[in-house]
Amino acid sequence: MLRVSAVRFSHFFPSLLLLLAGLSAAYVKDLNVFFTSLFNVLPTLVLLLGGSYCAVYRRQRELFLMITVYIAYFLLDTQTDFYRDNGRVREDAAVIFHLCCLLLPLLFSIYALWQEKTHLFRDFVARCAVLLALGSVALALEQSYPQALLNWLAEIRWPALHGSWMSLIQLSYPMFLIGFVTLAAQYWYQPRPLHAAQMVGLVGLFWMLPQTFILPFTLNIMCSQVMLMIAAGVAHEAYQMAFRDELTGLPGRRALNERMQRLGRNYVLAMTDVDHFKRFNDTHGHDVGDQVLRLVASKLSKVNGGGRAYRYGGEEFAVVFAGQTLDECMPHLEEIREIIANYDIKLRNSDRPHDDHQGRQRRAGSGASSVSVTVSIGVAERQAEQRTPEEVLKSADQALYAAKGAGRNCVIAAGQNRRGAVRMESAAG
Ligand code: GH3
Ligand code: MG
Ligand code: MG
Repeated sequence: MLRVSAVRFSHFFPSLLLLLAGLSAAYVKDLNVFFTSLFNVLPTLVLLLGGSYCAVYRRQRELFLMITVYIAYFLLDTQTDFYRDNGRVREDAAVIFHLCCLLLPLLFSIYALWQEKTHLFRDFVARCAVLLALGSVALALEQSYPQALLNWLAEIRWPALHGSWMSLIQLSYPMFLIGFVTLAAQYWYQPRPLHAAQMVGLVGLFWMLPQTFILPFTLNIMCSQVMLMIAAGVAHEAYQMAFRDELTGLPGRRALNERMQRLGRNYVLAMTDVDHFKRFNDTHGHDVGDQVLRLVASKLSKVNGGGRAYRYGGEEFAVVFAGQTLDECMPHLEEIREIIANYDIKLRNSDRPHDDHQGRQRRAGSGASSVSVTVSIGVAERQAEQRTPEEVLKSADQALYAAKGAGRNCVIAAGQNRRGAVRMESAAG
């Protein structure tokens, strides 16, 4: 459940866009001088810029992915240049090309799956060692037994599985397939923009290889795009770290500050605070407290009327209604307050089964305990006397304070004298 909800199309979007741009650029015929010169330097530029960017963020896994792609680009580009200049392929073209078809998906998948866990320097040395070991064995074999190596690579091992459409060596296909499946599994267990970029990147490389000698500049364009996908994945994650709250998945305080600078003339701000949350934490523990914050956040994120929820800090959330009036927002806030108050939170115990199905069965039984929480909400609208978002937020905060004073579990608008509280109390009575 949790994993499906964490899978997002937005994780794939930048990479898919880059892939599509790469595919369309590769099919353009008769490029002018400007683009030919651009594509000649593009992979090196992207490696230098993207590589330094990854290094600044201490992302060695991504740096090595880029280096792997760049080495393949360099080896194949030497061959395509020779082919373009001489009208025939170099003697070692076949063996180099086949080696790339085998080692590129292998190394790309190894580095993509190899998470940075150990000491940075040791990690760096280990990654270099793998690259050097594989590279030098391949080079030594290619120098000493070129023909034997070529025969071994080109051998059709499984004739029954060989299709006429296969233009790469047969060994390359299982390599790409295993790589893709494991990268997809990695994304499934850890849905992150970078893991999505790695999957799309591998698809890009798979498409690129057969076209290397057919479409001019395919190699330059697709290698650049794949390196860009990796760099964009790092940038996407850096953005999320800065602007998203990790616990609840809502945009955080920084995102709210930024949003507040771009509000127009009419807007409403609401401050929401969980009632007696400290007591709740003390009774049930911090972990259960975290679960409750996640739940409140998920309910608030679904507020109607165009509201956008942010985690302000601790157990406080802000909701922004841009272009709305107080009267338009009040019913939606009242609705969300009620939804939260009426929701029975099923507690996940520490002896909870790992299997979701078993967990559901057990919760449905008598053993599961449930709790509920309420929230108090203070609301303020932009008015002539409160011109800046900071002033409106302050007045929403004062209204929240009034809501707490009015007995909690209610919505109070600034200057509206416990209207929500009175309504709530009469409903309860
Ligand atoms: P009130 O109804 O007046 O708001 O009472 P309260 O207990 O909710 O208010 P108070 O501000 O005293 O307590 C807030 C508590 O929220 C204190 C802190 O332990 C808890 N808290 C803040 N951030 C987190 C968090 O990320 N996770 C958990 N579990 N607790 C948090
Ligand atoms: Mg508080
Ligand atoms: Mg509170």
